[in-house]
Amino acid sequence: MFTAEYQDGTTISLLEGWQLAELKQLRREQEFYCRSCKEPLLLKLGGKRQWHFAHRTKSTCKAMGEAETPYHLEGKKQLYYWLKGHSLDVGIEIYLPIIQQRPDLVVRYQQRLYAVEFQCSPIPVSVIAKRSRGYQEVGITPIWLLGGNRLKRQRSSTYAIQAFEWHAFRHYPPDNLSLSYYCPEQHSFAFLQHVMPYSATRTLAELQQSPLESTQPAALFHQPKQLPARRMKWLEIKKHWRYQHPLSYPSRVESYLLQLLYRYSLPRNLFPIEAGWPSPYYYYFETSPYHWQTFLLFEFLEHQPLTKPFTLQIVSRCIQPYMLKGLFSRRQIHEEAGWLQAVKGYLSWLCQMGYLEQTGEEYFKRVRSIVIPRTMEEAFRLDAAAARRCFTMEDEAENSGDNKGINSKKANI
Ligand SMILES: [Zn+2]
Repeated sequence: MFTAEYQDGTTISLLEGWQLAELKQLRREQEFYCRSCKEPLLLKLGGKRQWHFAHRTKSTCKAMGEAETPYHLEGKKQLYYWLKGHSLDVGIEIYLPIIQQRPDLVVRYQQRLYAVEFQCSPIPVSVIAKRSRGYQEVGITPIWLLGGNRLKRQRSSTYAIQAFEWHAFRHYPPDNLSLSYYCPEQHSFAFLQHVMPYSATRTLAELQQSPLESTQPAALFHQPKQLPARRMKWLEIKKHWRYQHPLSYPSRVESYLLQLLYRYSLPRNLFPIEAGWPSPYYYYFETSPYHWQTFLLFEFLEHQPLTKPFTLQIVSRCIQPYMLKGLFSRRQIHEEAGWLQAVKGYLSWLCQMGYLEQTGEEYFKRVRSIVIPRTMEEAFRLDAAAARRCFTMEDEAENSGDNKGINSKKANI
């Protein structure tokens, strides 16, 4: 920590231009206390690390998060000066007694309060969720900024994301998920945009780096400059699923799927064209979309008569027991019932593919059979055709606002 209290309750901050000799003198004369738990603190003035206050090892301080590493302290300090440099009202390590939390930074930006948490080490999903809820309860918007040391690129456009990091996501409508990072060693932000997970821990994404000195606070509080989505890259994921050899130790869901396809005398790499897509909100399932979408097609949708509409509710009821049994898992993010949205999103995606038709608010009708490719070549060709069709339709829907503008201008001419 950079801040503490004197015995009389006034605050001392190490970020206020102290000289080493002054602090050494002060340390001889004064006691320092934690602003949250009031325990006495040690003032550490080592040469290698940031000067900082620390609890004693046996501390029971509730506001204390994980042990502060030099990386964390340095990042917190740089972010504090950066926000101050943009003339923002910013407080460091302010204790909020009602929720017993002490965010790294509290900032007022355009009449709104934000708690900035600079998270460099893993924490349990339950803790990050609880802290976010705490801030929201008192009207503060949490901004989770991950340490740049957490950014794990695996191949170009492929990144590894841990379960707790899903709570650091920010959702920009219509469907842009973004993660923000800061690296105090490089003095640079990094924004992962258009995050499209394809397994529990792997995701496609676009990376944008932004040096601290040329980044405006709006990038943190509103949204970073949007990069174009390159969703056709998803075809590489589908290709990967089709090429993948059966694993010697398949997971439970993979074994289940193999049996399912076996019943239909299908090799696993020729799963239907209609399965394995990043349909709207599909990421609420942690299970890969290739698994749960194939399941829905074979176990439910394909059995629906062509003329008779069915409801979204019935589709959800079909998958729910398998979620309870743990065959499919939901991603631990914000909304409990997010997976229902994912099911709905998939049905609307299937409408775009021309497999279903929406006949009412939550009513759908099957209009044709699924397409089972006969060869791998055919599979790649049909997957690509479907991607061109559906991704373009989605992009058009996203840009419909702009299009209207253009049309109305034309109309005026
Ligand atoms: Zn404390």
